[in-house]
Amino acid sequence: MSKNGQLPNYINGRWQRSMASEYMAVINPATGEALGHVPLGGEPDVAAAVDAAQAAFPEWRRTPPEDRIQFLFKLKQILEERFDEIARLITIENGKTLTEARAELRRGVENIEVACGIPVLMQGYNLEDVARGIDEIMIRQPLGVVAAITPFNFPVMVPLWFMPYAIACGNTFISKPSERVPVTMQRLFELLHEIGLPPGVANLVHGAKPSVDALLDQPSVRAISFVGSTPVARYIYARASENGKRVQAQGGAKNHVVVLPDADMEMTAQIVNDSAFGCAGQRCLAVSTAITVGEAQRAFRDAIVDLAGSIRVNYGLEEGAQMGPVITRESQARIETLIAKGANEGATVVLDGRGARIPKYEAGNFIKPTILDDIPAGGEISKTEIFGPVLSITHARTVDEAIGILSSSPYGNAASIFTNSGAAARKFRYEAPAGNIGINIGVAAPMAYFPFSGWKESFFGVVHGQGRDGVEFYTEKKVVIERWPKEWSRKF
Ligand code: NAD
Repeated sequence: MSKNGQLPNYINGRWQRSMASEYMAVINPATGEALGHVPLGGEPDVAAAVDAAQAAFPEWRRTPPEDRIQFLFKLKQILEERFDEIARLITIENGKTLTEARAELRRGVENIEVACGIPVLMQGYNLEDVARGIDEIMIRQPLGVVAAITPFNFPVMVPLWFMPYAIACGNTFISKPSERVPVTMQRLFELLHEIGLPPGVANLVHGAKPSVDALLDQPSVRAISFVGSTPVARYIYARASENGKRVQAQGGAKNHVVVLPDADMEMTAQIVNDSAFGCAGQRCLAVSTAITVGEAQRAFRDAIVDLAGSIRVNYGLEEGAQMGPVITRESQARIETLIAKGANEGATVVLDGRGARIPKYEAGNFIKPTILDDIPAGGEISKTEIFGPVLSITHARTVDEAIGILSSSPYGNAASIFTNSGAAARKFRYEAPAGNIGINIGVAAPMAYFPFSGWKESFFGVVHGQGRDGVEFYTEKKVVIERWPKEWSRKF
């Protein structure tokens, strides 16, 4: 960061001042303090990064996979050494608690570990004698320059869903982090510099829509990975596809859990509480609506209201903090307006976290856990992604009715069921239209060696992020059929 707090881009192995004329303050959401100023650049910055990535590609793709992954081993090592320092940065710019920030970083590092398996994961397959004396092989080759555009809610984990696989497969990479949380990525790139990653292999470009549009329009960018809200995901998918790029675009969510009367109610309430209010509800896998079936209604509601009401809300760096602020003032206002809308639509606000004031942190964007009971079917609150610490509850008479409610959601990121019945769980797994399913699990987050799925308006594309899907996305298949003119080859 420069003396005046302006964040530079990292292009071709060097820190470079952005060509932007406009900067935006990066604000600590708990204290209201400015942490620095992020450039709102555009095409010139992106063009410089693309040039660097393109120039680095021929040498990087020729670097043996075994040698490429040595940089990932080093990155993992240095992240382990600086683990707490990075986690603190996440808390400072994003607001989540230090425990949550550590968990985020751990999930990110797991993706680096999986990508270290590229010499095996990237292998193709072959068959001798597809005809007499003729052999056929499939090899995977990197695409070239690829880019990832990422959201505010996981400043380091989401970029690490993509970068390790992209560069391990031999691509060169451009990261465009969220302009609201650019500082952690800044630090990650300092570490990439420290471990000696060759110039141009990974580049960092800050900015907002103009930078994104420049990436979408640059002919040399071969693939775009996106994570963010649904309207932007849809836009990214359309524009990048139109420009002939490979695209994976993960969008927003509205996740449901179904609670059956035979569930272990104490455990269920605890897990759903963690799922709804962890990271202040700003997780794409957070539960947004709990659907209680039959007699589960009262027991579940009473238990969760008790638990949610006792969550300690504070600055994430404070000892004992269990939930931090939401990302911005605007976000806080939007969430509070949606709570009011829910009440106007007829829901009962059984726990009201609006107007929260946290001692020492009056300038923070705090909302305490909020629970809306009996939300009306089809109302705005039942459809809108709130992305804050708000849990809605609705009731159904049967499992079929509950599955019907969640199936009507336009989103399909995650859905969970809490039950002791194998048959009910199996029916749910079979029928629920969501990409990540939890059975007695509140946040059904796939491990790094499984795809991070998502259906309907939560995902645009075919191949997902993480694990083998990551390798599939970042490689192109080439099929070679060969014959040699010798007596043991096929004769004509
Ligand atoms: P966002 O869509 O506002 O921003 C995401 C990225 O897109 C940022 O880098 C931003 O600079 C860029 N961007 C924003 N508006 C743009 C526009 N009009 N044109 C081009 N680029 C634009 O999302 P956010 O608020 O940072 O993140 C929260 C959203 O992300 C939620 O909807 C959440 O559900 C979603 N999310 C989804 C997943 C998933 O796996 N499906 C994971 C994390 C977050």
